[in-house]
Amino acid sequence: MRLHEYQSKQLFARHGIPVPQGIVVENATAARNAAREIGLPVVVKAQVLVGGRGKAGGVKLARTLDEVEAVADQILSLTIKGLPVRRVLIDPAADIRSEIYLGAVVDRTLRRVVLMASSAGGVDIEEVAAQTPWKIIRTPVDPFIGLPDYLARDIAVAIGLPREHWPEFVRIARGLVEAFHANDASLAEINPLAIVASDGSTRLMALDGKMVIDDNALFRHPDLAALRDPDEESEAERKARSADISFVSLDGDIGCLVNGAGLAMATLDIIQHFGGKPANFLDVAGGARADKVAAALRIILADPKVKVVMFNIFGGITRCDEVARGIVQAMEEVKPTVPMVARITGTNKEEGDRILASANLITADSAAEAAQKAVALARAAATPHAL
Ligand code: GDP
Ligand code: MN
Repeated sequence: MRLHEYQSKQLFARHGIPVPQGIVVENATAARNAAREIGLPVVVKAQVLVGGRGKAGGVKLARTLDEVEAVADQILSLTIKGLPVRRVLIDPAADIRSEIYLGAVVDRTLRRVVLMASSAGGVDIEEVAAQTPWKIIRTPVDPFIGLPDYLARDIAVAIGLPREHWPEFVRIARGLVEAFHANDASLAEINPLAIVASDGSTRLMALDGKMVIDDNALFRHPDLAALRDPDEESEAERKARSADISFVSLDGDIGCLVNGAGLAMATLDIIQHFGGKPANFLDVAGGARADKVAAALRIILADPKVKVVMFNIFGGITRCDEVARGIVQAMEEVKPTVPMVARITGTNKEEGDRILASANLITADSAAEAAQKAVALARAAATPHAL
């Protein structure tokens, strides 16, 4: 689950990371009032769960109250990468001298949290990672020891941070690692961690914040779970999550209903192999019970792009005939209007196929055969006058 910038920065602040004292608002009048309270100039920042807001016109400086109102109005009317801007953060504007990148992510290969730091921070960090990866310093963090000060100082030296900022950097890096662990994050990122000038001196400040919380740990963070932004996921993804189904929407027209994540991935591959395009990844875990299958079918069929549904089910502990009855029961409930191809295999396959065939499903003996049939049906549906 992704957190908004203002939420991430609030969590960072709890771990001693200096952040601007901003105010989140939902309309231009409130933005004006917030700016009056904070003091001009301010930055008006779109709160949407995507990166690159700056480049999309979602981060703007405002020097007068009228400007704040106009800019807030404008940003609140934006849709950035498909997401409507519903809130803006009003932050006191910082006088930025340079921009550092500092992020903590899970490195699956190392099985460690890795701190990444670069003096080339700011809006083009992806470019830096792609073109000049050596400018990003990667430091694994021992899960038991945490981030010792000397290691944080090593990072500060490696990115060429002026010596006067080392103590601040050490506190911030430690705070970021703490915030990462305390909230079961899979990503915690400050970009930019800026050297800002104020009152004749310079200091470090986290001007942007991004956190992704591990969904599997949300049960122990009810306060974070409550922050979930409904805009983050589509209607279908939300329904799938509440039915405990793993679901990812894709661009194609062949709906996939599969039990097992590996089998679901293989199904997508095999559909593409035969020239088709899957409409989704779906893993209906837990033995493919009728209620689950019905929920999954409803989610798949709610997508108007879906021209055909392909079942790829392995009946192991749950026998094929039980699965088949579940599918038939689900179909009676959902009443699909598109053709359905089913490949089920495993214990009692013959009985399962018989049940499916009598319910007008097209059966197949192999995943390849099912995929070929599904691809042909999807093509026929896409060109109804070709015959
Ligand atoms: P992002 O584009 O979604 O990563 O949004 P950021 O919050 O990182 O803002 C993008 C860029 O806007 C930053 O890299 C800064 O260069 C600039 N910016 C953000 N806040 C301020 C500020 O307070 N003052 C100034 N001058 N620039 C800012
Ligand atoms: Mn940023």
